[in-house]
Amino acid sequence: MTASALFGTYARSDLDFDRGEGVWLETTDGRRFLDCGSGIAVNSLGHTHPHLVAALKAQAEKLWHVSNLYHMSGQERLGRRLTEATFADRVFFTNSGAEAMEAAIKTARRYHYANGNPDRYGIITFEGAFHGRTIATIAAGGQAKYLEGFGPKAPGFDQVPAMDLDALRAAIDPNTAAIAIEPIQGEGGIREIPADFLRQLRSICDAEGLLLIFDEIQTGVGRTGKLFAHEWAGVTPDLMAIAKGIGGGFPMGACLATEAAAAGMVPGTHGTTFGGNPLAMAVGNAVLDVVLEPGFLEAVQRKGLLLKQKLAAVVDAHPAVFQEVRGRGLMLGLKCTPPAGEVLAKARANGLLMVPAGDNVLRVMPPLIISDEEIAEAVARIDAAASALEQQMSKEGAVA
Ligand SMILES: *Cc1c(COP(=O)(O)O)cnc(C)c1O
Repeated sequence: MTASALFGTYARSDLDFDRGEGVWLETTDGRRFLDCGSGIAVNSLGHTHPHLVAALKAQAEKLWHVSNLYHMSGQERLGRRLTEATFADRVFFTNSGAEAMEAAIKTARRYHYANGNPDRYGIITFEGAFHGRTIATIAAGGQAKYLEGFGPKAPGFDQVPAMDLDALRAAIDPNTAAIAIEPIQGEGGIREIPADFLRQLRSICDAEGLLLIFDEIQTGVGRTGKLFAHEWAGVTPDLMAIAKGIGGGFPMGACLATEAAAAGMVPGTHGTTFGGNPLAMAVGNAVLDVVLEPGFLEAVQRKGLLLKQKLAAVVDAHPAVFQEVRGRGLMLGLKCTPPAGEVLAKARANGLLMVPAGDNVLRVMPPLIISDEEIAEAVARIDAAASALEQQMSKEGAVA
């Protein structure tokens, strides 16, 4: 291979995929892989889903782009469907997750500004969070490894330990505008925030006049077996960022808001050239056609339980490799004892893809359309990978 022309930002595997169908991916040299990563929780309906392909092709032959200078019926339709299915009254479409979080942050600040409190701009977030890679969202995430070398951390973001209500209350001051949290930390290692904690956040926000922002970029659009993960806790936010699954592989995101929270976002306050592009809207609407079909989310819940049970058996069978399985729906994580990268490599050698995360966890996030047979196959491959790694570890142990 010649030297790459690309930025060196990714430690890429040299697997080179050429095509995909359902949960399966095939490399240019004809090797088949069972995709339990869905990109990174993006291909919610698997690869080349016929309904998405048809929707994108039909739109491609009609209209690609006009800009947000004009009425866009695809945006109106997807916006209406998202508000009808959620707490929200208003939607702003973006191209990515970070851009959706940026919109949520700006909307929260503008809400207080419009209500005569321009000094309320502070956003409180939680340790282990991930909200994106822009200058504002690395400050929101607060992780040193993402902030290092990029100048001063953008002001107005404070992190407190997750699940620490005392620290949270202590961090709230007259400048605080909002609290932002992922209902399940994804990049952080599939760490579920207990429902009770989310409910406490809601009541603190109500008592203090703060807005509650949920980052459902990874947890949303059916991933946990509800349309959005916060539904499990029975609380709703004022603002929510979504992306990943809503496009099923087409780049798009959105910021959802209540009428009150969005009130400050008047003409001229915010914008994007590409956000809400007709191609993206056609695919987003097609994803919702499938995810909102009666029984679809119940099937995700059932398959999530099946996969979690089977993975629990694999964890029990390989105590030297795995410590636990955690998560909800088809957003599961395997906590590893050896470096997760070694388990990942063995899984790849067995034709299965997962996604590494923080806390030495491997994320198991197959497309939501995975069948029971494919779940059994995925678990068998993870089991075989763990056995192979155990053998290698005992050989190395014998040598050492
Ligand atoms: C992926 C992700 C983001 C960032 O989304 P991009 O599309 O990569 O900008 C933000 N928050 C969460 C929870 C994510 O999983």
